[in-house]
Amino acid sequence: DRLRESKVYVRALFDYTPLEDKATPCQEAGLPFKRGDILQVVTQDDPTWWQAKRVGDSTLRAGLIPSKQFQERRLAYRMKMGTLPNPKSPKKPASEGCDKEDCDCEGYFNGQYIAGLRRSFRLSRKDRQGSSGECSELGETDFLTYEEVTRYQQRPNERPRLVVLIGSLGARINELKQRVIAENPHRYAVAVPHTTRPKKPHEKDGVEYHFVTKQHFDADALNNKFIEHGEYKENQYGTSIEAIRSVQAKNKMCIVDVQPEALKRLRTAEFKPYVIFVKPRIPESRLRRSAATSPGGGEHGRLTDEDIQEMRQSAIQIDQQYGHMVDRVLIKEDSASACAELQGILERLERDSFWVPLSWVR
Ligand code: 5GP
Repeated sequence: DRLRESKVYVRALFDYTPLEDKATPCQEAGLPFKRGDILQVVTQDDPTWWQAKRVGDSTLRAGLIPSKQFQERRLAYRMKMGTLPNPKSPKKPASEGCDKEDCDCEGYFNGQYIAGLRRSFRLSRKDRQGSSGECSELGETDFLTYEEVTRYQQRPNERPRLVVLIGSLGARINELKQRVIAENPHRYAVAVPHTTRPKKPHEKDGVEYHFVTKQHFDADALNNKFIEHGEYKENQYGTSIEAIRSVQAKNKMCIVDVQPEALKRLRTAEFKPYVIFVKPRIPESRLRRSAATSPGGGEHGRLTDEDIQEMRQSAIQIDQQYGHMVDRVLIKEDSASACAELQGILERLERDSFWVPLSWVR
């Protein structure tokens, strides 16, 4: 019944171009969308092709999109044929190798576009069994298809959402986080990390860090108490889940900057993280090789051509691997404007409603 009222909304986790999809019964009837688009699923009556509208699309045109099951199946098939990179061994070449006459599996897999063969096919029962057996270790969620979502607005008595900053090379998200908090210390706060390094005279336990022994730290790490931890100059550092909770208990918005690998761990109903991907803006002129020798100015003026390429690659890689978990991309021009933009985002976060996974509010 829920379906008939078309109250099903999903976030697309891949780009879809019907005109390139030879499996569709009618290319013209297809609904093109991009990863991150919110789709209202009008009917799921057909197991292979759903009808959907794009939220925010002024024409409100309904069109065909591949069903979740179908999209998963063709990705599974593709992976089985070795033409999709297995997320557990992502180095595999992605674009060649499917020798099935009738294969049609192009699309995204874990953020990577697979320029596959464009011939239509349907999986045979045998293939389906085979692929499900082989791919079971991956888990269904590893196929990026759709995520069911709903509108969510934080109520005044509710704990503020966790704000997670991830950044590509050169984004300096820690600096950005510190700056925003320094300007609004009554509203925003960091999660106080743990460390095994000795306390300095001016520091206070529980303010800069929780100073703990190595034994204590190791035990916490073993018990999965940290969202991430690492070593620096032979001392251990890490941020605990409890540290986030204690900021939220004071009704402040907790801002963390983490390696993107920590995202999976943080995407829970408890934290309802709002994920902001910060990437430095690289001027067009610096992307062109001809600019390599010209003396540069601005934020990236002193960087070599190689540095710029590395920054660019880093942003592309994070986008491919983690983009589907990102709520907002912030292009950082300079520190001051990025800080102002981040503040604007945080204010809206407390005021407006946002799409979140349905599982967070059920
Ligand atoms: P300091 O000992 O000077 O306060 O910090 C030294 C370095 O420890 C920081 O620059 C940072 O790289 C690292 N660090 C501080 N807090 C954390 C944390 O929560 N997790 C990790 N992985 N490293 C941290």
